[in-house]
Amino acid sequence: MPILVTDFDGTFTRRDFFDLIIERHDPRAARESWRRFQAGECTHFEGIAGVFASLRTDEAEADALVDALDPTPETAGAVRRLQAAGWEVVVASAGCRWYIGRLLAKMGLSLTIHASPGVFAPETGLVMKLDPAGPFHHPQTGIDKPAVVRNAMARDAVVAYAGDSDTDREASLLVAPQRRFITSRLGRRLAKEGVPFTKIERWEEIAEYLLDGTGD
Ligand SMILES: [Mg+2]
Repeated sequence: MPILVTDFDGTFTRRDFFDLIIERHDPRAARESWRRFQAGECTHFEGIAGVFASLRTDEAEADALVDALDPTPETAGAVRRLQAAGWEVVVASAGCRWYIGRLLAKMGLSLTIHASPGVFAPETGLVMKLDPAGPFHHPQTGIDKPAVVRNAMARDAVVAYAGDSDTDREASLLVAPQRRFITSRLGRRLAKEGVPFTKIERWEEIAEYLLDGTGD
């Protein structure tokens, strides 16, 4: 069964949960957490987890943030077309299973999710934890995206990857350029580096590429 591994925030959805917290709530602790990561004072996982944990709001507004991730209206249909054609669609994310699972449930989709677990409460924010027992555990990023791709490639010769940021670069380079679906920042970087890839603006374009039958 061919496998599509996709990043979540900013790739499967049009917005990042991280950015939405800062944009809508701007918690002081969020900026401090991200500053510490950028200054090399903590890991990527700790930087993101600090932003998530800085959120102070009620259940309804946390749920509104999930809606604000804003996948395109065509994305759910594109997933179903891929699945109907025999594709396994796998989410690999440095973000949190809490909002990924909630959004996919709202979309009526069932996908394998590799992301760090977490729990939201108004008093604690979204508390994301590492999962050392997980199959793709990575101490710095939570999830080892290249390991998810290598696992997929060990299971099937046809593997695609979709991503939007630096944290997707290494995983994306493992797959063939015609199945390396890239958007936003990472697209600008790969173009500058002269690395071939397939540029997408909207997630559903991936289904068009993979299902049109002209690939190898
Ligand atoms: Mg992303």
